[in-house]
Amino acid sequence: MEPVNDNVYAELISPGCNVGIIATGKGALIVDTPLISRQAKAINGALIDADRQPVRFIVITHPHGDHILGTDLFGKDVIIAGNRLTYEKMGKRDPAWVRDWANTWTWENPGDIEEMVAAHVSQPDLVFEAELTLHLGGIEIIVFPLPGHLAESVGVFVPEASVLITGDALFCDHHPFMGEGNFDVWLRSMDKMRNLKPERIIPGHGPVCGLEAIDKQQRYMQKMIEVRNKWNPAEGVGAITSKAVDELLAYYPLYGRPEKTMQARIIESIRVAGDPQFV
Ligand SMILES: [Zn+2]
Repeated sequence: MEPVNDNVYAELISPGCNVGIIATGKGALIVDTPLISRQAKAINGALIDADRQPVRFIVITHPHGDHILGTDLFGKDVIIAGNRLTYEKMGKRDPAWVRDWANTWTWENPGDIEEMVAAHVSQPDLVFEAELTLHLGGIEIIVFPLPGHLAESVGVFVPEASVLITGDALFCDHHPFMGEGNFDVWLRSMDKMRNLKPERIIPGHGPVCGLEAIDKQQRYMQKMIEVRNKWNPAEGVGAITSKAVDELLAYYPLYGRPEKTMQARIIESIRVAGDPQFV
């Protein structure tokens, strides 16, 4: 658990997503979940070691598997919050979906995958429409829309700590997953993030960062739009030049993931760029 700023910590998790942790006098609130029990135990253990209370609240930024599989890892009394679309999609995350999703992470430890396959996903208890403000033990926590990665994506801002927790609206030093995204909407959300002027940002994946990570991801997305505009979809994705794909591949490290997997992700993102998946 890495201290980020007053009362805010980050657990940079692999496999899985980053978990933002806000320690309050009414228990800790985590933003997104770890995937497996040893990660959940590590978070609660670190909170107790830091003289903080264990996890009592979970905010889900969006219903991708790497953010939601651990809803049941912190006991039955934890309150889970998510917006309406997230609530509805999580209701459809049945055991077959969880199994198929977990099995896509072929490069991870087989024992971890086995635990993920067996995960049960609980829907949010507290469902909000657009924005949710919590005051927990005197700490204001604002949950607000950051659509683009998915229509339902939200971010979390802690004004007193000047910390923004983005979910997958921002990846730092990692290739973003954009296959279900709307680039126009997403770029507007990135301006929204920048306008909050956070001192520190906990991205969905990658190290804790600052505003420079927003600039870099914006350049990456603009490059994708440029490639998309030069490509004729009628010729199929095979007509996207490998030079363009490799230029994008060079933006971020691979962290041990197969190059082919990331090239396929980039090609899918180029296909989506400028072709809105949702309004
Ligand atoms: Zn995601």
